[in-house]
Amino acid sequence: MTETRVIVPLSGGLDSAVVAALAAAAGAEVIAISYRYGQRNQRELEAAEAIARKLGVGEHYVIDVALSSWGGSRLFAGADDSASSYYVPGRNSVFAAIALSLAESRGADAIHLGFTAADRQYPDATAEYLTVLRSLAALTTATEGRPDGIAIDAPLIAMDKLSIVQRAIELQVPVAETWSCYAGGVDQCGCCDACRIRDLSLIRAGVPDLATEPGRAAYADGAERATDNLWRFLLRD
Ligand SMILES: [Zn+2]
Repeated sequence: MTETRVIVPLSGGLDSAVVAALAAAAGAEVIAISYRYGQRNQRELEAAEAIARKLGVGEHYVIDVALSSWGGSRLFAGADDSASSYYVPGRNSVFAAIALSLAESRGADAIHLGFTAADRQYPDATAEYLTVLRSLAALTTATEGRPDGIAIDAPLIAMDKLSIVQRAIELQVPVAETWSCYAGGVDQCGCCDACRIRDLSLIRAGVPDLATEPGRAAYADGAERATDNLWRFLLRD
């Protein structure tokens, strides 16, 4: 079945922007949703709005879900050292449930998520998780006119960051509008894990102008740092 109306959760980052551009390129009407969940940097929500505008998304919802109320992640504003990870407990399950509500209400055929190969380090962004989510969606959203329920897809789940950047360039995604940084600054810091993997991928994809200044300085020759295993982990297939 051709998907005519697709829900895309837009985080403000590159991955979900590519997911939205792919759905639009396939001829679907994209409805975007973003979540204000207490993340450290509200800048990513401004990025989500700019991306939606540039991609011609007609409907974009920004929903408040204060997951930061009970803490548990370094990603939250004001997080202390007791939270060791950027993983946000239960976030993707909460977001998926809200996206299902939107999809059902607006008669969408599918939800397209921005999971990538690098996200498989998180329990709620794996292929197994996607399978369970599909079962949930099938069970809860099947109707007479839609016997299989709302489809759940993650078109980037097997792609590394470099491939995603290359796809973004092909699809003319407004990469400069996207926001990946974990830090709380006015500009992307170029030093956190998210910035570094993004910068290295942009440089390798031949668009160094889109990288941050610290990123360009660190990876001007496209080389990864021999001492750092992060890049190998995130760039592998
Ligand atoms: Zn950063």
